[in-house]
Amino acid sequence: PVDRLPEIQEARLKLPVLAEEQVIMEAVRENPCVVICGETGSGKTTQVPQFLYEAGYASGSGIIGITEPRRVAAVSMSHRVAKEMNLSTRVVSYQIRYEGNVTDETKIKFMTDGVLLKEIQKDFLLQRYTVIIIDEAHERSVYTDILIGLLSRIVPLRNKRGMPLRLLVMSATLRVEDFTENLKLFRTPPPVIKVDARQFPVTIHFNKRTPLEDYTGEAFHKTCKIHRMLPPGGILVFLTGQVEVNTLCRKLRKAFPFRKGNTNTADTSEAMRKFKKAKQKKTSLPRIDLDNYSALPVDEGDEDREAGIGDEEDEGSDLDIGDDPADTEEKADPSIPLYVLPLYSLLAPEQQAKVFRPPPPGTRLCVVATNVAETSLTIPGIKYVVDCGRVKKRFYDRVTGVSSFKVTWTSQASANQRAGRAGRTEPGHCYRLYSSAVFGDFSLFSEAEITCRPVEDLVLQMKDLNIDKVVNFPFPTPPSAEALVAAEQLLISLGALKEPPRTGSVKEMERARLSCPITPLGRAMASFPVAPRYAKMLALGKQQDCLPYVIAVVAAMTVREIFEDLDRPTHNEDESSKLTQRRARLTQMRRLWAGQGASLLLGDLMVMLGAVGACEFAGCTPKFCEENGLRYKAMVEIRKLRGQLTNAVNTVCPEVGVFVDPKMTPPTEHQVICLRQIVLAGLGDHLARRVHAEDVLDPKWKNGYKTPLMDDPVFIHPTSALFKKMPEFIVYQEIMETTKMYMRGVSAVEAE
Ligand code: ADP
Ligand code: MG
Repeated sequence: PVDRLPEIQEARLKLPVLAEEQVIMEAVRENPCVVICGETGSGKTTQVPQFLYEAGYASGSGIIGITEPRRVAAVSMSHRVAKEMNLSTRVVSYQIRYEGNVTDETKIKFMTDGVLLKEIQKDFLLQRYTVIIIDEAHERSVYTDILIGLLSRIVPLRNKRGMPLRLLVMSATLRVEDFTENLKLFRTPPPVIKVDARQFPVTIHFNKRTPLEDYTGEAFHKTCKIHRMLPPGGILVFLTGQVEVNTLCRKLRKAFPFRKGNTNTADTSEAMRKFKKAKQKKTSLPRIDLDNYSALPVDEGDEDREAGIGDEEDEGSDLDIGDDPADTEEKADPSIPLYVLPLYSLLAPEQQAKVFRPPPPGTRLCVVATNVAETSLTIPGIKYVVDCGRVKKRFYDRVTGVSSFKVTWTSQASANQRAGRAGRTEPGHCYRLYSSAVFGDFSLFSEAEITCRPVEDLVLQMKDLNIDKVVNFPFPTPPSAEALVAAEQLLISLGALKEPPRTGSVKEMERARLSCPITPLGRAMASFPVAPRYAKMLALGKQQDCLPYVIAVVAAMTVREIFEDLDRPTHNEDESSKLTQRRARLTQMRRLWAGQGASLLLGDLMVMLGAVGACEFAGCTPKFCEENGLRYKAMVEIRKLRGQLTNAVNTVCPEVGVFVDPKMTPPTEHQVICLRQIVLAGLGDHLARRVHAEDVLDPKWKNGYKTPLMDDPVFIHPTSALFKKMPEFIVYQEIMETTKMYMRGVSAVEAE
């Protein structure tokens, strides 16, 4: 029995999913696979694991596993469920890539989907588990898709052996046909249980015009207007990326400064007074039907939407604040403080946690977020949503193999999810910074991630599971044939797959190319928890005692953003001048870490190595990181990954006996040369050649680099260690398209 606190119990009872407990548990008893659909916030993630626990699915030696596509969600949901169940985190635990708090007592385990995939490689039957829940399946993350494919085979195998395993797939949208009606996946379609959302109506306000460029500016004006003119209630703004989020936070904080001390208590606040004044000037508040618990998606179908707009004439007119003239300057107004918080996945956890807490009294909460707030996290108290209608996605160019981030229109399903965030606690409003015609042109649903990214890592993992004919795998949505061919090609060139024989007809050769078996090197590579290019570097690292360095560099390359974001918004001038100082310090440190002479040629990778070495030498303390512009969370991840990679290498080749040395000395000149060769072996297909001034015909090529497959130039970023040096040939980790096509993780190839 679970001993919950009374207030927790009360809050639970309000969640729509509670009403379906019987139905869900009966379906799980009678079916090996069950799909549960319900709006974000209906209680799927926090409650379903508890149902299973209470029904005894973790009472024996088996445990309940839940996968999340995002680490943020795995960690915060495990904490939340532990709290709700009044159990220790030794019992309700989490495991993400490098860390976790799983113990022998763990009964409910939240993890990222990548973690479960690794476990399948160790134990194909997943014998520790009695139930696996695949959460947020609507996100269609690559690992989610693969896991569902694999589990569709594992579940029947377990049942055949008399040790049943249950599979639950949970999704926030009703579009589950890819899972349920895919006969390759499930011969008997699994039952779908719909949880009625207790969603309050959300009025949609479309812009008449659609800003094509400056939607961040438009979001700023709209947010200001909402804050000045509309009743209390949190504002959630959707933008596409960290830089935009920080820019808008900065502007909003400047416009409505919040300092400790300039706020009064909740309803006597200046904000309230101003609001009342604004209200008097306008017409009365809209009549909102509090009993209208619309179970329908807020604006399903064109007719409803058009009707919604019409209604604003009489009902919502004073909330339809219209398109913003872009030229109105917002003057700083400290009398109505806005409590502005950013939210994106790279943000430190303690910063992220702030959005769940009530804002300081007398202020209005405004969260400026990326897509993370769309479905995985429910922020309390949001009444207004401002939606830029865009999303930043990683695009993968099938011809050049280059990936880059691009901002595109989102899908109708995503836009509706975003709007829905405004109607969790009371009726709300969603301001779309685009016209209804533009909305009509959005695709209905977002594409499955697997169809728009390279798949070499997945193909290697699958080959290691002895799935040679990856084309025949029961994908919910299969990746393109081109992507599969490119993946096999890269893996063959890295030596991870056996080169197919060059005999027989063209067709036979083509078929052989798509079913190459894994090599021993490939197996070693697959055992390293990093992408194939980096795995190759690890496999070569034995030479010249380079392994500790290769491990450190690979760890640093695979952890996102090791440097702190020192361009972030600040609350006051004091903070801002400190940031300026720290930026200068970081620039200086980068130069120091890059070293001189031979080591400089290793470029950005040398900077990473220097940063990791220095940080470890200092004991990897938050103080050291803060003083030197390193992201503490990233450095801790690197430390853990170094340990993990060291173990993996020792398992594969015990004779090298490598260990993590906290006092790693810098590599010798000879070792640097060796390291550069190893890096080249892994990144060989990411080669670029400098275009010299005398060859430049078109000014766009100035200081540019040419890659074999791209028509446009790519550039070394000003923060790169090789920005001034501009070597003839370089290899890069990846290309990011921001204001220009910038290469990240650049290192020089030629000897000098
Ligand atoms: P779903 O998975 O269906 O989207 P959840 O189970 O995540 O729903 O959330 C159910 C409710 O639990 C949400 O409405 C939210 O208010 C509450 N909740 C979730 N996480 C937290 C948290 N960390 N702190 C407070 N409340 C939370
Ligand atoms: Mg959820």
